[in-house]
Amino acid sequence: MLPRVIIIGRPNVGKSTLFNRLVGKKLALVDDQPGVTRDRRFGDVELAGMKFTIVDTAGWEDEDPSTLPGRMRAQTEVSISDADAVLFVIDARAGLTPLDNEIGNWLRTADVPVIVVANKAEGRSGDSGILEAFSLGLGEPLGISAEHGEGTADLFEALWPII
Ligand code: GDP
Ligand code: MG
Repeated sequence: MLPRVIIIGRPNVGKSTLFNRLVGKKLALVDDQPGVTRDRRFGDVELAGMKFTIVDTAGWEDEDPSTLPGRMRAQTEVSISDADAVLFVIDARAGLTPLDNEIGNWLRTADVPVIVVANKAEGRSGDSGILEAFSLGLGEPLGISAEHGEGTADLFEALWPII
């Protein structure tokens, strides 16, 4: 079995876009509206001698906002139980939300390596969001743009020693 890398994050931060970018195919559904992705999706990534399975987590986009955190937490716990690494995606343009902080708190107590991925950081648009993401206490955030394909090399470099 290949190492497993799980993409975690609140709805609409660009998880499926990142999944598609890494897998190189449109396997995950991306939409401007939250609520599109239904299931966990698995794709194999092979690049520069590194092979792993990437997992796009979803299924909570339709949740009632009042019950979303609890449901997300349960699903996150299942998802990371068999993960070798977590890509915790935040929206660098939007900055951290209370739900991001909550997810960060769960992940800090989890026994799995976490890379904070500050997405939507094309150009300099995400600079302040990247800085803000340091406060999650999960190490140096990586600024990327899944949509524009920026930062992918840094992401592989960060994953290399972990998986
Ligand atoms: P998910 O709910 O976390 O899976 O998010 P999606 O991948 O479905 O993306 C949500 C929205 O963010 C879509 O409108 C994407 O086009 C947009 N998006 C994703 N990645 C980027 C990015 O790198 N830059 C910008 N500006 N928008 C992005
Ligand atoms: Mg999605």
